[in-house]
Amino acid sequence: MDITKIKIFAIIVFTYFNIGIHAQEKPRVVASCSMLSDMCENIVGDLMDVEMIVPIGGDPHIYEPTPSDAQMVSRADIVFINGLTFEGWIGDLIDNAANNIPVVTATEGIQAIQSEKYDNSADPHAWMDFKNGLQYVRNIKDALVALFPQYERELETNHKNYVAEINAADAYIINQIAKIPKEKRVLVTSHDAFEYYGQRYGIQLEALMGISTNSDARTSDIIRVSRIIKEKKIPSIFIESTINPKLIKQIADDTNVTIGGELYADSLGEKDSEAGTYISMLKHNTDVIVQALAYGKTSNTKIDEDQDQNNWLLYGILGLLLIGGLLFMMIRLNSNK
Ligand SMILES: [Zn+2]
Repeated sequence: MDITKIKIFAIIVFTYFNIGIHAQEKPRVVASCSMLSDMCENIVGDLMDVEMIVPIGGDPHIYEPTPSDAQMVSRADIVFINGLTFEGWIGDLIDNAANNIPVVTATEGIQAIQSEKYDNSADPHAWMDFKNGLQYVRNIKDALVALFPQYERELETNHKNYVAEINAADAYIINQIAKIPKEKRVLVTSHDAFEYYGQRYGIQLEALMGISTNSDARTSDIIRVSRIIKEKKIPSIFIESTINPKLIKQIADDTNVTIGGELYADSLGEKDSEAGTYISMLKHNTDVIVQALAYGKTSNTKIDEDQDQNNWLLYGILGLLLIGGLLFMMIRLNSNK
């Protein structure tokens, strides 16, 4: 082995251990759900490791924690929850961890909607309004700065950039909703997760279930929703990513309206999906709602178009590879002559 090789080897070993040690030293942030986890990631950047308890697609209202969740919480430096009874199961999980971890309620300071329809209980879905989202990320940033003052500058910078992105997305939604004729601004979904969204962006909400998902829809709710669809001549109703769509599909069939598409309320979509972040989730919901209520387009047709485009892209790449391969072989054959 010559000197250069030894140097390279030494650099690789050093880098490897350096990364290893560094990764272990990173503070651990645990968030109860995917929306909070994404907010935390935007604020901590590479400074800390962020984990979430309820996985993507899970329903935080009725989640049952696992032993590995308990381990995750017991290893955490700080835990962020939504509060407003969103995660009714979280108290036991944190008590069991029993290591005095700071638990921060991200909705602190937010004016909660008291649901008149459901015994005046506080509606937990405050993140559905970007103005509330700003309060969430301020609470998250403040708690992290208090616990890790050594990272204050980076946390403040990340927070400032994230706030600008949220404000831009908020303006986008206001612009998009304006495209729906006023009388058509009625959103029918599975559960009452869109009140904050409706109040901020000017849409009337009609949901089958209440502000939680822990009970079945009542016949009276099905009748009420079906009547509203007919009375207001609503063209489309919507399913939700974390809730069985059977009942909404049934109502759509019975009232002869389309399913406008899938909305995300209590969980983000997968990382690389159109609703993979907090910001893209609300923008995606808005696009689906506007396409359906303003233009009568369901998002299924859009998905098909995307797939066609993907297919053409695939054929294109395969074609290029084939031509490249042939050229390569011809060059090789020529050079062997
Ligand atoms: Zn919900």
